Amino acid sequence: MELKEERMNRPQSSLNAFISEANRVDSAKIVCAVLGAGFAGLSVAWHLLFHSPKELKVKVDIFDDVGIAGGASGVAGGLVHPYSPKVKLLWRGEECWTEFLNLLNVAEAAATAASSPHFPLNTTDFIVRRTGILRPAVSEKILDVMHQNAQNCLASCPIQAVDEVAARELIPNLSTPLNRAFFMPKAVNVNPHHYLKALFLASEHLAKRLSSTGFPGKEIALHKKVVTSLTEVGDEYDVVIVCLGARVDMLADLSGMLPLRTCRGIVAHLQLNDPLWLILLTSIERLGSEAILTTILPRVIL
Ligand SMILES: Cc1cc2nc3c(=O)[nH]c(=O)nc-3n(C[C@H](O)[C@H](O)[C@H](O)COP(=O)(O)OP(=O)(O)OC[C@H]3O[C@@H](n4cnc5c(N)ncnc54)[C@H](O)[C@@H]3O)c2cc1C
Repeated sequence: MELKEERMNRPQSSLNAFISEANRVDSAKIVCAVLGAGFAGLSVAWHLLFHSPKELKVKVDIFDDVGIAGGASGVAGGLVHPYSPKVKLLWRGEECWTEFLNLLNVAEAAATAASSPHFPLNTTDFIVRRTGILRPAVSEKILDVMHQNAQNCLASCPIQAVDEVAARELIPNLSTPLNRAFFMPKAVNVNPHHYLKALFLASEHLAKRLSSTGFPGKEIALHKKVVTSLTEVGDEYDVVIVCLGARVDMLADLSGMLPLRTCRGIVAHLQLNDPLWLILLTSIERLGSEAILTTILPRVIL
């Protein structure tokens, strides 16, 4: 993200760097375009409003041709924890996990408050299920590595190595081919659509709250609009932040310039009384090391 005159020829700086830079700019108002309304875009939008000084006027326009959760975020399984498939702590995993829990609190609080006319949230729709995630070991080759990784887990998101009996208490009749599974009791399953709508609501609420306490300069708006190039985004924006997910490569100015590697995600959403779930579980070895089960009440496997 960069200030207007530097937009195309400077490497990306962090959000904090931008905010401190913005503070130094002698400007009555910082106008930001956030491209994409997925996990990345809506998190950035919230942080821009929340972390910028109260006195600084910040206008955030989010552009997405589909709307909130229109891309990968909208089809994601919503499994959230700070570990790789081999239960290794991810790069900056602790920081990301802590930040995610903060955002989750923010989204939940917004959803319980009055909903916006644009995004009515039914209070019975879940935003998060805190029933943990179970990761069955499916390869002898990496079992030792998983055990070692699990020992280096975060206190805020512990990993318990469990045998088949314990695993079956969590998911009845579960087959664990190596009699070993890794349970993350604090890991969560978010409903991406509801979580992201609530996060947008939270940003709207924050802007209103600041305005009512004497700091009227924060604004946020969502525009359903396709963006085909960075130059197309108007000159009125001081900053353009690109959060277009896998489709970023289709942006004319960035096409072929980013070292992107796409990966595939599969979500099977089955009720336990559906005979298909048995097929899923007995095929788990074929799903390979990516197989993750989340236990959800009423018992649903994702
Ligand atoms: C099937 C599946 C399951 C997954 N399950 C999980 C999981 O359980 N846990 C997990 O952590 N991760 C999961 N992932 C990965 C996760 O979904 C992605 O890493 C994450 O959603 C990326 O978020 P994003 O905001 O970067 O991109 P996106 O969610 O793709 O957001 C980009 C947004 O930009 C918009 N957009 C794109 N191009 C344009 C344009 N030219 N003009 C205007 N708007 C545009 C899109 O409509 C979209 O809303 C899964 C992914 C898939 C595909």
